[in-house]
Amino acid sequence: MSRSHVGTSRTLLVTGASRGIGAAVAVRCAQAGWDVAVNYTRDAAAAERVAQAVRSAGRQAVALQADVANEAALMAMFARIDADMPPLGGLVNNAGVVDAMARVDETTLARLQRMFAINVFGTFLCSREAVRRMSSRHGGNGGAIVNLSSVAAKLGGPGWYVDYAASKGAIDTFTVGLAREVATEGIRVNAVRPGIIDTDIHASGGQPDRAHQSTALIPMQRPGTADEVAEAVQWLLSDAARYTTGAIIDVSGGR
Ligand code: NAP
Repeated sequence: MSRSHVGTSRTLLVTGASRGIGAAVAVRCAQAGWDVAVNYTRDAAAAERVAQAVRSAGRQAVALQADVANEAALMAMFARIDADMPPLGGLVNNAGVVDAMARVDETTLARLQRMFAINVFGTFLCSREAVRRMSSRHGGNGGAIVNLSSVAAKLGGPGWYVDYAASKGAIDTFTVGLAREVATEGIRVNAVRPGIIDTDIHASGGQPDRAHQSTALIPMQRPGTADEVAEAVQWLLSDAARYTTGAIIDVSGGR
């Protein structure tokens, strides 16, 4: 087992792990020795397939349905982990959404509320619950949190989705702030900022071919894969990154 920071099993919760980057993180981290709670919202069958892949790697897995924007559902998910899985030792705040292309002068309040509820409030609330369980201040054994930001936080998403970019800017600030807040409590907090990665998220924003149509925007001239992002996430969770906290790593082909 390459996860050397604990001698006993510990659970990693990956939000939005039924497909895309979250699914790749779940499987790669299982191979590195984590037991995994696979969170999803709609696609139970896909989440169960990811859980099976975790079990095939020799680790425990549970698939848990919860909208991270719904506090009651999120609390119930953490209670299930407490009851059915080894103690929580890691959290990957991966669940995130885009929306159709829109300028700021076309933005509705409902769109903003959905975007920030999932991308920002979900990350805050899941992190709160993880800190309550992992922090030495609360009697926990420490742990690691990795947040999925986006290079959109740097670029601003003009003409495309400034709201999404701003939600990821909030994640960058949250990462630095929480990292410093819990630095003496055994918890490291970092973020990965993917560039354009070939997943279903682009179809959900109405642009299924976006990853391959955007290669001219990428210095390396190709979109990234979910597994290339998962490798960085797994490293940040591991003991190899034990002196790394408050860091934000671009995995973006140079974008
Ligand atoms: P994706 O393929 O669209 O997958 C999104 C996952 O999140 C699915 O498992 C989905 O589950 C889940 N999900 C959606 N809303 C949720 C909610 N309210 N509560 C819990 N789970 C929810 O996305 P992805 O491309 O892998 O992106 C993952 C993360 O990386 C996101 O935070 C995204 O912003 C970030 N990112 C992606 C890219 C990219 O180019 N792909 C670039 C930069 C950053 P169901 O299918 O079951 O609903």
